[in-house]
Amino acid sequence: MAPFWVGTGWKMNHTRADAAAYAATLRASPLPRAPGLQLFVCPPFTALATVADGLGDCPVKVAAQNIHWAAAGAHTGEISAAMVADCGATMAELGHSERRHDIGETDEEIGRKVRAALDAGLIALLCVGETRLERRAGAAIEATVRQLKLGLGDVAADELKRCLVAYEPVWAIGEGGVPCSPADAASVHAALRAAMAEKAGAVGVVPPVLYGGSVNLENCRALAAEPEIDGLFVGRAAWQAEGLLAVAEAALEVRRQRTA
Ligand code: PEP
Repeated sequence: MAPFWVGTGWKMNHTRADAAAYAATLRASPLPRAPGLQLFVCPPFTALATVADGLGDCPVKVAAQNIHWAAAGAHTGEISAAMVADCGATMAELGHSERRHDIGETDEEIGRKVRAALDAGLIALLCVGETRLERRAGAAIEATVRQLKLGLGDVAADELKRCLVAYEPVWAIGEGGVPCSPADAASVHAALRAAMAEKAGAVGVVPPVLYGGSVNLENCRALAAEPEIDGLFVGRAAWQAEGLLAVAEAALEVRRQRTA
C-alpha cells in the first residue's frame, strides 16, 4: 500500500540547535517507522545537515526548500541540487507560493528546478495552488493544472515516480489562511491526478498529491479521510516536532480505519 505522506516546511525558522532538538524528538518516536506513513521535513538550508545527521537511520526524508536550476557556476547566493544532496537532503520542495509570489519565481524557472532536482537524484516536490482571485473567478483547476504541466514539463513519464505534488491554495496558507475543505481539495486533486495520468501513459506512475494550507490537529482527520488526498503538507502546526507527530498520528489512524 502506498504510504500516506506527512511533512512540514519550516520556512525561515529554526536555528541549528532547534533543528537538532527537532530531529532528536522524531528519532525518539516510533511513529516515523509506522507502516503506511512517510514523514518528511523541509528545514532551511542552514539546518539541512543538522537535521539529516540528527535523524541518522530514522526514516524521515529531508527536503531542501529550494534549489537553483544550474548544477554549479556563477550564481551568487544560490544553492545547487548536488549541494543540498551533499547535506543529506533526498527531496527538494519547489514552487512554494511564497517563492512564486514573494520572490517572483516563474513556472518556467520552477520547471527547470524540477529537472535539476531529478537530475541530481532528488525527489521533486512540486507545489501548485491558485490565488484567491483565481478561485473566485472559477479558475482554480485551470490555474493549478497549468502550473503542474509547466512544472513537470521536462519530466519524462518514467520519472514521475520520483515526483510528489502538493496542492497548496495561496488563500489557504499561513496567518489568515482559510483551510480548504476536503471536498474542494478533492476536486483539484482529481484534476491534477487526471493531468498526470495523461502524462504518465502506460509507463508512468501518477505521483501522490498532498494537500497543504492551514492543516492542523483539528482539521487533519477530515482531510486524511478524503481518498483523493495522499498526504498532508503542514506549516505552522508542525514547526515543533510534537506538532508534526500529532498530525501524522491522527492522520494515520484515519487512513488505517479507512482501509481496514
Ligand atoms: C505552507 O506554507 O506550505 C503551509 C502549508 O503553511 P501553513 O500550514 O502554516 O498554512
